[in-house]
Amino acid sequence: MEAEEVIDNKLYTIAEIKKFTEEYIQNKVRFQVNVKKVEEKNNWYDNFCTTCGDEVNIVAERYKCETCKRNIPYPDIRFRLAVVCKDVTGVIAMVFDEEIYRLTGKDVFDIENDDNQVGDGINFPPMLKSFENRDYIVTLLIEEKNTKKSCSVYTVYALDEPVEMLGNHTPGDTVDITSNADSVTMGIDLLSK
Ligand SMILES: [Zn+2]
Repeated sequence: MEAEEVIDNKLYTIAEIKKFTEEYIQNKVRFQVNVKKVEEKNNWYDNFCTTCGDEVNIVAERYKCETCKRNIPYPDIRFRLAVVCKDVTGVIAMVFDEEIYRLTGKDVFDIENDDNQVGDGINFPPMLKSFENRDYIVTLLIEEKNTKKSCSVYTVYALDEPVEMLGNHTPGDTVDITSNADSVTMGIDLLSK
Protein backbone atom coordinates (compact mmCIF):
# COMPACT_ATOMS: atom_id res chain seq x y z
CA MET A 1 0.00 0.00 0.00
CA GLU A 2 1.35 3.41 -0.92
CA ALA A 3 0.86 5.86 1.89
CA GLU A 4 0.09 8.82 -0.36
CA GLU A 5 -2.94 7.01 -1.74
CA VAL A 6 -4.71 7.29 1.61
CA ILE A 7 -6.52 10.59 1.74
CA ASP A 8 -5.58 11.24 5.36
CA ASN A 9 -4.59 9.51 8.56
CA LYS A 10 -7.86 10.20 10.24
CA LEU A 11 -9.63 7.17 11.60
CA TYR A 12 -13.21 7.43 10.43
CA THR A 13 -16.18 5.83 12.16
CA ILE A 14 -18.59 3.34 10.63
CA ALA A 15 -21.37 5.94 10.77
CA GLU A 16 -19.24 8.39 8.78
CA ILE A 17 -18.27 5.80 6.16
CA LYS A 18 -21.88 4.87 5.55
CA LYS A 19 -22.69 8.52 4.81
CA PHE A 20 -20.02 8.95 2.12
CA THR A 21 -21.35 10.36 -1.15
CA GLU A 22 -19.90 10.31 -4.69
CA GLU A 23 -17.03 12.64 -3.86
CA TYR A 24 -15.43 9.79 -1.91
CA ILE A 25 -15.39 7.29 -4.81
CA GLN A 26 -11.85 5.91 -5.28
CA ASN A 27 -10.73 7.41 -2.01
CA LYS A 28 -9.02 5.25 0.55
CA VAL A 29 -10.22 5.68 4.10
CA ARG A 30 -9.18 4.02 7.34
CA PHE A 31 -11.11 3.06 10.42
CA GLN A 32 -10.75 0.79 13.42
CA VAL A 33 -13.24 -2.00 14.00
CA ASN A 34 -13.87 -5.05 16.07
CA VAL A 35 -14.94 -8.14 14.13
CA LYS A 36 -18.35 -8.97 15.56
CA LYS A 37 -19.15 -12.00 13.43
CA VAL A 38 -17.69 -14.20 10.71
CA GLU A 39 -20.59 -15.40 8.57
CA GLU A 40 -20.42 -19.18 8.53
CA LYS A 41 -23.35 -19.59 6.18
CA ASN A 42 -21.46 -17.96 3.32
CA ASN A 43 -18.81 -19.71 1.31
CA TRP A 44 -15.40 -18.43 2.46
CA TYR A 45 -13.83 -18.55 -0.96
CA ASP A 46 -14.86 -18.26 -4.59
CA ASN A 47 -13.56 -19.46 -7.92
CA PHE A 48 -12.50 -17.03 -10.62
CA CYS A 49 -11.77 -17.31 -14.34
CA THR A 50 -8.03 -17.37 -15.07
CA THR A 51 -8.63 -15.41 -18.30
CA CYS A 52 -11.13 -12.66 -17.52
CA GLY A 53 -11.23 -12.71 -13.70
CA ASP A 54 -14.99 -13.14 -13.47
CA GLU A 55 -16.47 -15.51 -10.96
CA VAL A 56 -17.02 -19.01 -12.33
CA ASN A 57 -19.74 -21.43 -11.35
CA ILE A 58 -20.05 -25.16 -11.50
CA VAL A 59 -22.11 -26.22 -14.51
CA ALA A 60 -22.54 -29.94 -15.17
CA GLU A 61 -19.79 -30.69 -12.63
CA ARG A 62 -17.27 -28.44 -14.34
CA TYR A 63 -16.17 -24.89 -13.65
CA LYS A 64 -17.49 -22.74 -16.43
CA CYS A 65 -16.91 -19.05 -17.18
CA GLU A 66 -20.13 -17.58 -18.58
CA THR A 67 -18.21 -14.59 -19.93
CA CYS A 68 -15.55 -16.56 -21.83
CA LYS A 69 -18.01 -19.39 -22.64
CA ARG A 70 -15.55 -22.08 -21.75
CA ASN A 71 -14.63 -24.51 -19.00
CA ILE A 72 -11.90 -23.46 -16.58
CA PRO A 73 -10.26 -26.64 -15.23
CA TYR A 74 -8.21 -24.86 -12.54
CA PRO A 75 -9.84 -21.56 -11.62
CA ASP A 76 -8.14 -19.05 -9.33
CA ILE A 77 -9.42 -19.58 -5.82
CA ARG A 78 -9.56 -16.54 -3.59
CA PHE A 79 -10.78 -15.76 -0.11
CA ARG A 80 -14.16 -14.10 0.20
CA LEU A 81 -14.86 -14.07 3.92
CA ALA A 82 -18.08 -12.29 4.85
CA VAL A 83 -17.79 -10.47 8.17
CA VAL A 84 -19.79 -8.03 10.24
CA CYS A 85 -17.71 -5.44 12.07
CA LYS A 86 -18.62 -2.88 14.68
CA ASP A 87 -17.48 0.24 16.43
CA VAL A 88 -19.36 2.43 18.89
CA THR A 89 -21.21 4.16 16.03
CA GLY A 90 -22.65 1.07 14.32
CA VAL A 91 -22.09 -2.09 12.32
CA ILE A 92 -20.85 -2.66 8.77
CA ALA A 93 -20.75 -5.67 6.42
CA MET A 94 -17.43 -6.29 4.72
CA VAL A 95 -15.57 -8.90 2.70
CA PHE A 96 -12.06 -9.90 3.72
CA ASP A 97 -10.22 -11.28 0.70
CA GLU A 98 -6.53 -11.64 -0.05
CA GLU A 99 -5.54 -9.74 3.07
CA ILE A 100 -6.23 -13.00 4.90
CA TYR A 101 -3.20 -14.49 3.18
CA ARG A 102 -1.04 -11.57 4.24
CA LEU A 103 -2.13 -11.90 7.87
CA THR A 104 -2.12 -15.69 8.21
CA GLY A 105 0.42 -16.80 5.61
CA LYS A 106 -2.14 -19.33 4.37
CA ASP A 107 -3.99 -19.36 1.08
CA VAL A 108 -7.30 -21.05 0.24
CA PHE A 109 -5.51 -24.17 -1.00
CA ASP A 110 -3.56 -24.50 2.27
CA ILE A 111 -6.71 -24.28 4.37
CA GLU A 112 -8.76 -26.55 2.11
CA ASN A 113 -6.13 -29.26 2.50
CA ASP A 114 -5.54 -28.88 6.23
CA ASP A 115 -7.40 -31.61 8.13
CA ASN A 116 -7.59 -29.35 11.18
CA GLN A 117 -9.42 -26.67 9.19
CA VAL A 118 -11.65 -28.59 6.79
CA GLY A 119 -12.91 -32.09 7.44
CA ASP A 120 -15.34 -34.32 9.26
CA GLY A 121 -17.14 -32.56 12.07
CA ILE A 122 -15.71 -29.13 11.23
CA ASN A 123 -18.39 -26.71 10.11
CA PHE A 124 -16.08 -23.84 9.34
CA PRO A 125 -12.28 -23.38 9.31
CA PRO A 126 -11.28 -22.41 12.89
CA MET A 127 -8.48 -20.21 11.54
CA LEU A 128 -11.02 -18.04 9.75
CA LYS A 129 -13.49 -18.09 12.61
CA SER A 130 -10.70 -16.76 14.85
CA PHE A 131 -10.96 -13.36 13.18
CA GLU A 132 -13.96 -12.82 15.45
CA ASN A 133 -13.55 -10.46 18.41
CA ARG A 134 -10.27 -9.09 17.08
CA ASP A 135 -9.55 -5.45 16.36
CA TYR A 136 -8.27 -4.27 13.00
CA ILE A 137 -7.40 -1.09 11.23
CA VAL A 138 -9.30 -1.45 7.98
CA THR A 139 -8.50 0.46 4.80
CA LEU A 140 -11.35 0.65 2.30
CA LEU A 141 -11.29 1.77 -1.29
CA ILE A 142 -14.69 3.38 -1.65
CA GLU A 143 -16.52 2.15 -4.74
CA GLU A 144 -19.36 3.81 -6.59
CA LYS A 145 -21.80 1.12 -5.48
CA ASN A 146 -20.99 1.93 -1.84
CA THR A 147 -22.13 5.54 -2.21
CA LYS A 148 -25.52 4.42 -3.46
CA LYS A 149 -28.10 2.37 -1.68
CA SER A 150 -27.44 -0.56 -4.02
CA CYS A 151 -24.57 -2.12 -2.08
CA SER A 152 -23.82 -1.87 1.59
CA VAL A 153 -21.04 -4.48 1.52
CA TYR A 154 -17.54 -3.05 1.45
CA THR A 155 -14.46 -4.81 0.12
CA VAL A 156 -11.40 -4.41 2.27
CA TYR A 157 -8.31 -2.97 0.61
CA ALA A 158 -5.97 -3.53 3.55
CA LEU A 159 -6.24 -5.07 6.97
CA ASP A 160 -3.78 -4.25 9.75
CA GLU A 161 -3.55 -4.97 13.40
CA PRO A 162 -3.72 -1.81 15.53
CA VAL A 163 -0.25 -0.51 16.38
CA GLU A 164 -0.99 -0.81 20.10
CA MET A 165 -1.29 -4.57 19.73
CA LEU A 166 1.94 -5.19 17.84
CA GLY A 167 4.54 -6.96 19.91
CA ASN A 168 1.87 -8.34 22.17
CA HIS A 169 0.87 -11.71 20.85
CA THR A 170 -0.80 -13.07 23.95
CA PRO A 171 -4.02 -14.73 22.83
CA GLY A 172 -7.11 -13.00 24.14
CA ASP A 173 -5.24 -9.91 25.23
CA THR A 174 -7.31 -6.86 26.00
CA VAL A 175 -7.76 -3.97 23.64
CA ASP A 176 -5.98 -0.74 24.43
CA ILE A 177 -9.13 1.04 25.50
CA THR A 178 -7.45 4.42 25.91
CA SER A 179 -6.30 4.73 22.31
CA ASN A 180 -9.55 3.25 21.03
CA ALA A 181 -11.56 5.82 22.93
CA ASP A 182 -9.35 8.62 21.58
CA SER A 183 -9.98 7.71 17.97
CA VAL A 184 -13.69 7.30 18.57
CA THR A 185 -13.89 10.66 20.31
CA MET A 186 -12.05 12.25 17.41
CA GLY A 187 -14.56 10.74 14.99
CA ILE A 188 -17.53 11.96 16.95
CA ASP A 189 -16.05 15.47 17.20
CA LEU A 190 -15.75 15.62 13.45
CA LEU A 191 -19.23 14.23 12.95
CA SER A 192 -20.77 16.98 15.01
CA LYS A 193 -19.15 19.79 12.97
ZN1 LIG B 1 -13.66 -15.73 -18.19
